[in-house]
Amino acid sequence: MRVGFVGLGAMGTHMARNLRRAGLLAALYNRTAAKAQTLGAELQVPVCASLGELAAACEAVVCCVSADADVTEVVAALAPRLAPGALVLDCSTVGAETARAAAATLAAAGAQFLDCPVSGGVEGARDATLAIMVGGSEAAFARAQPILAALGRTVTRFGPSGSGQAAKATNQIMCAGIIEAVAEAMAFAHAQGLPLERLIDTLGKGAGSSWYFVHRAPNMVRNAYPAGFRVRLHAKDLRICHDMAARFGVELPVVERMLAEYAELIARGWGDEDISATYRLKAELFERTNLMRPPGERGGA
Ligand code: NAP
Repeated sequence: MRVGFVGLGAMGTHMARNLRRAGLLAALYNRTAAKAQTLGAELQVPVCASLGELAAACEAVVCCVSADADVTEVVAALAPRLAPGALVLDCSTVGAETARAAAATLAAAGAQFLDCPVSGGVEGARDATLAIMVGGSEAAFARAQPILAALGRTVTRFGPSGSGQAAKATNQIMCAGIIEAVAEAMAFAHAQGLPLERLIDTLGKGAGSSWYFVHRAPNMVRNAYPAGFRVRLHAKDLRICHDMAARFGVELPVVERMLAEYAELIARGWGDEDISATYRLKAELFERTNLMRPPGERGGA
């Protein structure tokens, strides 16, 4: 199958490399052309000047862009030039409604669509170990198997269009609660004067551990948060969760709290850092109370 890739960001660059390794990658497109030129030269894969050109050159297109409006825009530009029966897989995290609308646009153009949001971070994209949550027809899912197998390790179809995004939204709510707990616990441990690296080694094997604790608590020790999963993007995902819950008249406390904390991080210029930057706010809680104590009674490492 000739596969094209759209969206060479933090995730997409690795995913495109994995499609190349699997012998599937036929063409690349990126809005900022220089990124596509660089990766095209590295992988020896043709670069298309437009989405229409890419659509015409491929039997399947994988897309990994930012937000709802971007997916809608990319799908609208691909649709008129896709061959009948072409397959579009969208790995971006967007709302279930956006996925259903994309599926309808592509069905009208005679093409098939799968919403395929992913989990596992930049590392999972690099190592092709992503968990992929799929929504769409069984027939499209069956056709997409070689592509999905090249990108991830756990690939599950949850039902019709939109159900992959609903599963991903569920995951994003858990990520919010876990990163909040990890950041809070690490700020607490720091204030107790504990040796933090040894703590991560030990608690990383305990019942309270998680992927975020093992892989992102070290950022908190170094107080450096290089972009893995950006605050801005998780805030975008949590707004999706907020809207999906609001359809039931429900407001979820974990979602609302993290949206407020991310708004503060973004306002203070940390929106492009990894979400482990939440630690900055948790550490400040202890710094404030510590500074209110007499100097001799101040704790912390
Ligand atoms: P990123 O580094 O910001 O890259 C976004 C990519 O999408 C860039 O190549 C950008 O092109 C392209 N793009 C955005 N809007 C576009 C448009 N309207 N038309 C064409 N191209 C457009 O983002 P990322 O971290 O790779 O994330 C991509 C998606 O995966 C997001 O939906 C995110 O929520 C999801 N995700 C991310 C992670 C993670 O850990 N990073 C994990 C799971 C899922 P330019 O180069 O021109 O800007």
